[in-house]
Amino acid sequence: MTKIAFIGLGNMGGPMAQNLVKAGHDVCGFDLVPEALDQLEQAGGSKAESVTEAAQGASVVISMLPAGKQVESLYLGDDGLFKTMGNRCLVIDCSTIEAEVARKVGQQAKEQGIDFVDAPVSGGTAGAAAGTLTFMVGGSAGTVEQARPYLEIMGQTVFHAGDTGAGQLAKICNNMLLAIVMTGTSEALKLGIDNGLDPAVLSEIMKSSSGGNWVLEKYNPVPGVMPQTPASNGYQGGFMVALMAKDLGLALNTAASSHTATPMASLADNLYKMHAIRSGSHQDFSSIIQLYDSAD
Ligand code: NAD
Repeated sequence: MTKIAFIGLGNMGGPMAQNLVKAGHDVCGFDLVPEALDQLEQAGGSKAESVTEAAQGASVVISMLPAGKQVESLYLGDDGLFKTMGNRCLVIDCSTIEAEVARKVGQQAKEQGIDFVDAPVSGGTAGAAAGTLTFMVGGSAGTVEQARPYLEIMGQTVFHAGDTGAGQLAKICNNMLLAIVMTGTSEALKLGIDNGLDPAVLSEIMKSSSGGNWVLEKYNPVPGVMPQTPASNGYQGGFMVALMAKDLGLALNTAASSHTATPMASLADNLYKMHAIRSGSHQDFSSIIQLYDSAD
């Protein structure tokens, strides 16, 4: 049994932490939202009143925070964990953030003898709950092996993408593609619906045809087509529009610095921005299909 501090118990971090508890680890969590702490406690973990308290005596710290600024502040801030954390600790950051921030945190960790990997995930909230996430890990081969037993509890597949920051780069390539696939799939479904097709039947047809993709298999954007999706739950939970917009920003910034042409990502970025203006940014990102609804 390992003492694990888990920081960030939201849509993803909550179920990931619970899976570590189920596997027999001693998990102490911290989040800004009291209900998230209560849920971990009900699942058999414990709750802390601060990140420092959560990390007290822990040999592994896992973070699942919204963006780079929270991760940087958690580890490197004035009251950051690296100020008090002993060496030989293992830090696994699963948030999706700038590769640059992951490298900065990783460098500081190295200077202090702390082992660090960036380990962003794919698989959504359903994958987090089922323990079937895919991890894309950046760091030294030795540190990835140290992290593997914990990652394999929360996920099914662990890829070593390269050095520190490489996990983040792989993740933003993936999410850039997901954003494009979600808008494209929404567009095709809307065309069918507007011309009298049943979206469930159309989805089945496309899933088994050359247009088949992950969105049709696991995350259909039309309410009622798949029972367990955010679309069938009022677009609540899941992966917020705000987070997809963040990931598209990360991809576009990276593309700008490597002079890579990303015209489809630019279009998807604008579509998500327009959607956020019209409908807010707290719904699940599959709600982008609403952007294709006519005004009447
Ligand atoms: P979320 O907003 O549901 O959860 C984030 C949690 O972090 C919240 O509970 C929030 O209160 C907490 N938090 C914020 N600042 C904090 C701080 N300073 N200290 C402690 N807790 C703090 O977001 P999520 O959907 O769980 O996503 C988390 C990360 O995972 C993001 O980087 C996202 O891009 C990535 N991700 C999400 C999904 C998904 O399907 N939701 C899939 C893959 C990756």
